[in-house]
Amino acid sequence: MKVKNLINANNNIDFSKKNITFKKSSPSEGFSNKEKISGTIKEKSLAIIGGYSVFYSLTKLLKLFINKPFAKYFFKPSQYFTDQEKNYALVQKMLLENNILPKTNANPKGLRIIYLTEKIFNKIISQKTEPKPTIKKIIIDIIGKITLSPTKTVRERLTKIKEGKNANFLSKANLIFMPEKKLGHAVFHEIGHAVNYKFFGKKVFLLNQLGSLILYPLTLGISLFNNERKNGKKDKKKSALNFTKKHALEIVLLSQLPLLFEEGLASKRAIHFLKNKTSPQELKFAKKSLGLAFLHYLINAVIIAGNVKIAGVTSNIISNKVKQHQSVTTQLG
Ligand SMILES: [Zn+2]
Repeated sequence: MKVKNLINANNNIDFSKKNITFKKSSPSEGFSNKEKISGTIKEKSLAIIGGYSVFYSLTKLLKLFINKPFAKYFFKPSQYFTDQEKNYALVQKMLLENNILPKTNANPKGLRIIYLTEKIFNKIISQKTEPKPTIKKIIIDIIGKITLSPTKTVRERLTKIKEGKNANFLSKANLIFMPEKKLGHAVFHEIGHAVNYKFFGKKVFLLNQLGSLILYPLTLGISLFNNERKNGKKDKKKSALNFTKKHALEIVLLSQLPLLFEEGLASKRAIHFLKNKTSPQELKFAKKSLGLAFLHYLINAVIIAGNVKIAGVTSNIISNKVKQHQSVTTQLG
């Protein structure tokens, strides 16, 4: 604060008079109301654009250089868990141990596991039409685009699974989609999700949505927009915004906790089940593979939290530079 006053004091020396006088250290002095408003708009928009550009570039770069290579490493074909018959028997065992009923004629609402062959994929795609865009979906899409975590269409999701790059548990349909080849071990992780769902219902899912669709974008927005300095006055709204910006890193990390909890617990259940039921090599592979997948989620959470923080700091620097520039211009003008 002292340093800032000193700078302002130096800026405000009026050299036009022989006796050097000090102006009040208010940078807005000398501006008309109209100039003040346009100055604020200019400062705000430059700070937001600059901060967001940094967020955008960093997120894109890290996706390219960390997420993609990581995914490639994680989803490479393996010689483990490729025996479908043996896997299927283990799947039945895990369902039984967790009191999850598989789908049968007698129990049509039970859990279904569909191995996505080319034929099944084509059949689903030809039948399935994309759901009509609702306001909720449009908002989710926009938030996804802004935060660079775009939502995927049904076709895109199923294509990834068919290509062996993912597996998916759909709680509403009580269904697990598995790739036909590769990722044999992932089915146990997906059953882990089904067990989680049995325990917690929609709770974790809703908390996850609250984090990714509200808390994370809101923190990003506040970090870009809120660049005012504390003026000593007690303003509750203002201090809430300042708190959010100051603790952006922790808040965004917090917003990712439900996802980390869900994924971590699903993998923990898978590994716990596989102990003593599979060969030591297979168990070791499952541990490593599921551990890496979790590490991937964790790194992602740290990256997005870091990016929001950096974007906020950048926005602050730009805002101060513009304010300083405007102040100097007034002195000269
Ligand atoms: Zn998962």
